[in-house]
Amino acid sequence: MRRYSVALIKGDGIGPEIIDEAVKVLDAVSVKENFEITYKEALLGGAAIDMTGDPIPEETIEIAKSCDAVLFGAIGGPKWDDLPRSKRPETGLLKLRKALGVFANLRPTIVYDELINASPLKPEVIQGTDLMVVRELIGGIYFGEPRGYEGDRAYNTMVYTRAEVERIARVGFDIAMKRNKRVTSVDKANVLEVSQLWRDVVSEVAKEYPEVSLDHMYVDNAAMQLIRDPKQFDVILTGNIFGDILSDEASMLSGSIGLLPSASLGEKHGLYEPIHGSAPDIAGQGIANPIAAISSAAMMLRFQFGQERAAWRIEEAIRRVLREGYRTRDIASFDAKEVVTTSEMGSLIAQYAAQL
Ligand code: NAD
Repeated sequence: MRRYSVALIKGDGIGPEIIDEAVKVLDAVSVKENFEITYKEALLGGAAIDMTGDPIPEETIEIAKSCDAVLFGAIGGPKWDDLPRSKRPETGLLKLRKALGVFANLRPTIVYDELINASPLKPEVIQGTDLMVVRELIGGIYFGEPRGYEGDRAYNTMVYTRAEVERIARVGFDIAMKRNKRVTSVDKANVLEVSQLWRDVVSEVAKEYPEVSLDHMYVDNAAMQLIRDPKQFDVILTGNIFGDILSDEASMLSGSIGLLPSASLGEKHGLYEPIHGSAPDIAGQGIANPIAAISSAAMMLRFQFGQERAAWRIEEAIRRVLREGYRTRDIASFDAKEVVTTSEMGSLIAQYAAQL
């Protein structure tokens, strides 16, 4: 029997509630698919500050690095908002990403037919959309040196090396091979030298993937095309700042923040988390939508463990639950037959995933 270890970082706010549901579903599918997951809990963010005074204790980094994957809820909340930057919950998450060397951020946009009216776009524009933004996460202008704020002048540096572009491009093409074999590389090569290098290197890497079709798009056009005709995209491959903006735009196409997962991958490690935050406004009420967290667990099974069938079980179970009209409160206005709690939603998905 295959055995995997997962570092569980529940975090703050709704984090513990939604991660508990993800574990429930993982346990249900692992029995069916004959593998075993052991969990090690670790502290991050506000929960870690309260216990240790540090948003990311050394032990958390050790646990995260020693496990096969990290499943993370969310961190932050008003209680910790006034702390100095180095002591804030977000600093803990940035340090964790860095320690794990996760350079590729994957964000799928999943459109559930049953929730099509949740999208701000017309149903005929959005229906059938299935795209993945692959964003470079630890380079580009957010990290480039020199940077500074001096009197009336401030500056940042957008820099990429050939090696950095090559490795993220390979992630993008590898994922396209498992999907519809199309990559759209997004840059601003008409203005920026760094984008010209990006374009050159992506075109070279593309030669290793003759089955995948590649096209290049300027970022301003990509922002427009995502709204005009999102179905045209399969994998969107892009750098840090463009990916930051485009992945948020793409995530809103599906309409609800409580549904969407993400993965951050490195050479060795993988960090899986919902795209939403800790939602302090609804924490502890049993009304948070656990689907983003459960879907992140499915990504972990697929990308980290290669357990494709188990991932499929979870994704199919989510579709079935929605098809049958079960809704958490955030999506209740879209054809709800029955409004369920966080825990009931997790149990239904676990039960259906095990039945498939
Ligand atoms: P948020 O994503 O936490 O919440 C935005 C809105 O969406 C809220 O009304 C919330 O109730 C709702 N919402 C979010 N997830 C939901 C779910 N699963 N089910 C139902 N409704 C859901 O963003 P915010 O309010 O800007 O931030 C709250 C806190 O979370 C802040 O401290 C912020 O720093 C932190 N945050 C953390 C992460 C992370 O841990 N990766 C990401 C974003 C924000």
